[in-house]
Amino acid sequence: MKPGIHPNYVESTITCSSCGTVVHTHATVPEIRVDLCSQCHPFYTGKQRIVDTAGRVDKFNQRRAASEKVQRAAKRREKAATKA
Ligand SMILES: [Zn+2]
Repeated sequence: MKPGIHPNYVESTITCSSCGTVVHTHATVPEIRVDLCSQCHPFYTGKQRIVDTAGRVDKFNQRRAASEKVQRAAKRREKAATKA
């Protein structure tokens, strides 16, 4: 091997933040964190579930609720305007 060009190859652990599975392997960094792994990904488990580690579903529901509120208010204003 040519000296000075290769990265350090060390023992490494890969940790899944969803299910806590730990895989021991070798890599250039000692620790790798993943959101999904083959133990919990729906493709491998065959179970349909929403994988939402970043809170995207919650954010979407909040946005939707806020939007409905605005739309209801607009409709109310429209009704009031047509009555008068
Ligand atoms: Zn996992």
